[in-house]
Amino acid sequence: MFLGRLRRAHTLGLLALVLGSAAAAQVPVVDWKKQEPEILRHYRSLVQIDTSSPPGNETNAVNYLKKVLEGEGIPVKTFAMQPARANLVARLKGSGKQRPLLILAHMDVVPVQREKWPVDPFGAVLKDGYVWGRGTVDDKDKLAANLMVMLLAKRMGLALDRDIIFLAESGEEADPTGVGISYMVSEHFPEIEAEFALTEGGGGTLQDGRVSVVTIQTTEKVPRRVHLIANGTSGHGSVPRLDNPLLHLSAAIAKVGAWETPMRLNDTTRTYFERLATISTPEQAARYNGLMNPESSAAVQRYLAANEPQRYSMLRTSIVPTMLRAGVGPNVIPSEADATLDIRALPDEDMPKFFEELTRVIDDPAVKIEPIAGNPRPVAPPSRLDSDMYRALERVSKRLYPESIVLPTMSTGASDMAQLRAKGIQSYGIGPSSIESDSTNYGAHSDVERLAETSLYRFVEFTWNAVFEVAGRK
Ligand SMILES: [Zn+2]
Repeated sequence: MFLGRLRRAHTLGLLALVLGSAAAAQVPVVDWKKQEPEILRHYRSLVQIDTSSPPGNETNAVNYLKKVLEGEGIPVKTFAMQPARANLVARLKGSGKQRPLLILAHMDVVPVQREKWPVDPFGAVLKDGYVWGRGTVDDKDKLAANLMVMLLAKRMGLALDRDIIFLAESGEEADPTGVGISYMVSEHFPEIEAEFALTEGGGGTLQDGRVSVVTIQTTEKVPRRVHLIANGTSGHGSVPRLDNPLLHLSAAIAKVGAWETPMRLNDTTRTYFERLATISTPEQAARYNGLMNPESSAAVQRYLAANEPQRYSMLRTSIVPTMLRAGVGPNVIPSEADATLDIRALPDEDMPKFFEELTRVIDDPAVKIEPIAGNPRPVAPPSRLDSDMYRALERVSKRLYPESIVLPTMSTGASDMAQLRAKGIQSYGIGPSSIESDSTNYGAHSDVERLAETSLYRFVEFTWNAVFEVAGRK
C-alpha cells in the first residue's frame, strides 16, 4: 500500500513536469485506506433508503444527507416541487476566482422485481467483495462519492478557487412531472449555476485487475419521438379499400426502416472511434478506421448495424418504430392507425429539415408525421474536449489508471446533463470501473445490481482528484 502510494506520488511529480503549464491545482493528499469504513457506511445507508421511482420518496434520502452535511457544519438548502420528492443543494465556498463546479447525482432508483434478487435489494448486503443492491451503480455510488468529497474538503479546510456545489436530485429515472433537474433548472438555477458539472454517464472497464478503458460522457442523442398517423375510410372488413390506414401505415414503416439516415460524426464520436481503434484487434481497428474512409464506410456501417448496434447508433440520427395501434375488431376497417417512432437525433440535427426528409421518404399524403409534444430533454451542443474539466479528467484517469485509454462518448440515451448543457454548463459523465461481465449482468437497471467494494473506493478517489484538479487553489 505504502509503496503504491509512493509510486503514485512519483508519477504525479513526473506528470507535473511533463505538463508544465497545465493549470492544475495540487490535489490534497488523503489516506484513502483510512476513509474506507466511512465511505462504505454512507454508501450502504443510501442504498438502504428505498427510493425506487415511482413513488421515489427521495425526501428520505434528502433527510439523511441533510443530517450528515449539517452535522459537519455544511449548510444545506432543500427545494421540493412535491414534498416527498425534494432536492438538496450544499455549497463549499471558494475564492470566486473561477466559476463553480457542480457535482450532482440522482437519489431515485428504478423499481425491483424482488424474486430476481439473491439478496434483499435494499439491504446493501456485502458478499463476495461486492455491495449488492438497487442503486449500487445507478446512482448511489456517485451520490456517496460526492458526499465524501464535501465532507473531506470541509474537514480539511481546503482552499478553493471555485465553489463546489453538491446537488442531490430527485426524479431522474421516472419524472413525468419534472420534480428533479427540470425544476432545479427552471426555478432555482442560481443555486446550481456552474461552469462545469460532473455526474453519472461514464465509467471504467476492469481487465485482469487493471482499468483498461475510461469512458467520459460528453454528449448525448436527443429524443425526438413522433407519431405516424394514417387516416382512411372506415368500413366492413369484407370490402377492401385502397385507403385502408393499416396498408398505408405499414408501407410507411417499411420505408422508414429501409431508410439509412446520413452518417455524421462530431468531435466526441470521431475521437471515440479513433481511440477505440488503438486498443482493438487489427481486424476491429481496420473497421473503426474504415468508417472515415468513403470506400469502406458503407460496408463498415452494415457490419456495425448487424454486430455492434450501440456503436451504429452513435453514427447517425436513428429511427426505431416502437409501438403500433390500430383496429377495433377483426371485421372492421378502422379510420385511423398510428405508430410511434422513437427518433434519437444527433445533437446538431436540424429537425424541421429532418422531418421534411422523412416526409419525402414516406412519400404518402395519407400518412402524417406528428411530433410528440413535451420532450423533456432540450438540445445542447456537446461539452468540449479541450476544457479544463475534460483535460483534468484525462489526467486523473492516466494518474489513477496508468494503463487506461480515455474514450469520450456520446450516449444514445438521454440524461440529466441535457438540461445542464442547454444552460451552458460543460457537463461530463463519469463512473466507477467494472469488469465487462458485471456491466452486462449486474449493471444499471439490471435485474440485480452490484458494485465491487474496491471499485467504490477507487471511484471516490477518482472523483476527489477530478474535483480538486479544477476547483482547488492553484
Ligand atoms: Zn442513473
